[in-house]
Amino acid sequence: MIRLRDVNKTYDGAVPLHVLKGINLDVFKGELVSIMGASGSGKSTLLNILGILDNYDSGEYYIDGKLIKDLSENRAAEYRNRMIGFVFQSFNLINYKNAVENVALPLFYQGVSRKKRNKLAMEQLEKMGLADRAHHLPGELSGGQKQRVAIARAMITNPSIILADEPTGALDSKTSHDVMGIFRELNEVDGKTIIIVTHDPGVAAQTNRLIRISDGVIVPESSPIVIP
Ligand code: ADP
Ligand code: MG
Repeated sequence: MIRLRDVNKTYDGAVPLHVLKGINLDVFKGELVSIMGASGSGKSTLLNILGILDNYDSGEYYIDGKLIKDLSENRAAEYRNRMIGFVFQSFNLINYKNAVENVALPLFYQGVSRKKRNKLAMEQLEKMGLADRAHHLPGELSGGQKQRVAIARAMITNPSIILADEPTGALDSKTSHDVMGIFRELNEVDGKTIIIVTHDPGVAAQTNRLIRISDGVIVPESSPIVIP
């Protein structure tokens, strides 16, 4: 489903920063994988490229065999909206909109009628066990509830790929476990392809494959783990 070949990314600046150094990666349809690596190793950069939120400089990125490169902003947005749901550490909810309005937001941008988008948003909230919180503002929700609202929002366009950047980074371990249960269910029941960046080995252990990134390079799976 996802294929990266020799992908490079450099951030320009007074001193250009070569962040991704020839990334090769395959993620198959229906996989639930985690990405771990030190802070600054390029995890978010990689996820942003996978999510077509950012461009890469050289190499190839294919989704379902389709080359994702040099797309116009319109085409990029079209792919993003159709294929990809995003979840972030800081939830990225709009504070003055209630839960159901937050979940419905992607459909608002797609021009779906208010009645229809609220109905679909309620269905997603129900699926997350949050029907009774639909009219609460984010400030009135716990961290775990906020992240479930954010997951419901990511799911509302029925994407086949979910990308999550440290989705449990702001949650305690019990809540992290609950949120991981949701990702597992979306993977096992709905067949979503899910990529989760995490610092938490407990989170990685709940995925089916761990990908390690070190200084902009994917660490080969066969390499021995060096315990200092
Ligand atoms: P990680 O998510 O693994 O912590 P990032 O992908 O966020 O790493 O960042 C990798 C490196 O690129 C870091 O050194 C970071 O400071 C730098 N970086 C990230 N985004 C930008 C940007 N927009 N412009 C310049 N440098 C950036
Ligand atoms: Mg990051």
